[in-house]
Amino acid sequence: MPFRPRYTGLIERYRDRLPVNDDTRLISLGEGNTPLLKLNNIPKVLGKDIEIYVKYEGLNPTGSFKDRGMTMAVTKAVEEGSKAIICASTGNTSASAAAYAARAGIAAFVLIPEGKIALGKLAQGMMHGATVIQIKGNFDEGMQLVKDVAEHAPVTIVNSINPYRLQGQKTAAFEIVEELSCAPDFHCLPVGNAGNITAHWMGYSEYFEDGIVGTRPKMVGYQAAGSAPFMRGHMVDDPETVATAIRIGHPQSWDKAWKVKEESQGWFDECSDEQILAAQKLLAEHEGVFCEPASATSLAGAIADIESGKIPEGSKIVCTLTGHGLKDPDTAIKQSTAPMMTVEATLDAVRDVILSNMTD
Ligand SMILES: *Cc1c(COP(=O)(O)O)cnc(C)c1O
Repeated sequence: MPFRPRYTGLIERYRDRLPVNDDTRLISLGEGNTPLLKLNNIPKVLGKDIEIYVKYEGLNPTGSFKDRGMTMAVTKAVEEGSKAIICASTGNTSASAAAYAARAGIAAFVLIPEGKIALGKLAQGMMHGATVIQIKGNFDEGMQLVKDVAEHAPVTIVNSINPYRLQGQKTAAFEIVEELSCAPDFHCLPVGNAGNITAHWMGYSEYFEDGIVGTRPKMVGYQAAGSAPFMRGHMVDDPETVATAIRIGHPQSWDKAWKVKEESQGWFDECSDEQILAAQKLLAEHEGVFCEPASATSLAGAIADIESGKIPEGSKIVCTLTGHGLKDPDTAIKQSTAPMMTVEATLDAVRDVILSNMTD
């Protein structure tokens, strides 16, 4: 039987676990159902007996996990009669909001920090017809403005403080459990506003409480060192990191994330920008997986904790790769060590390059 039902997105798939009813008009771009790839080569590079999976969320419709939350948030906004959505964003939320608003036929307003958003994300917001408002300030300042303006204008906030966002995002944990037939021992994520680590814990806990799995993972959240309020124990006013998607000093899910850490017996840690970029390169070169810098923070942190033994050998680990590498081509090209070469258009010239670059 070569036929199967068309995949129509995560709300349809997890309808009974999400706040929708039969009359709800679903706003979907076919998000979710992303690959859970087992790393073949990196464990060998590390010389460790360890099972690492990456959940490649960059393969969502707009290239990041934000789509899981956005399908729910926009579906509910439309159901409640909203004609416009608004968000502050380091880039991916704005790309996702713009696309889902276009799909729904409503307006999107997005506030982004001037000069601090990756090129691909900016292109998406503009292309989908959102009103892109660059502010001379960072994400945290944009977030405050969004909260203030939403009290005075008929717009629905679709940042992760919108509770439907986390409902949609929890489905990533469902998919992982279904494919592994169990929960992993450790689940590692990059942490910015900490909505995603909170949402994953909700998903794992829901399956645990319903008896679908007997265990839950330790949740491990990694931050960029220059933008690590969870490590400092307080908010940070001038966050800075190459991983622009997690350049956030005032996490919106602060209390929730501390609770996740306690309940799951996990921890937070930080990675330098060098570690983050090295992990991004390692994944691209050894596994064929291209994620954006912020996403590689999950693997960078996991590698450090595997090497120190904090994550013991024999463990089953899932690292979330939150966004696609093509989002940020500038950073990728800048860190490429091999310079681009130009040669004569002759057989000799091209053959010389091949012979001098063959490794045996
Ligand atoms: C939004 C985002 C994050 C951070 O997720 P939070 O839920 O804010 O912690 C990490 N990586 C990428 C690529 C993102 O877009």
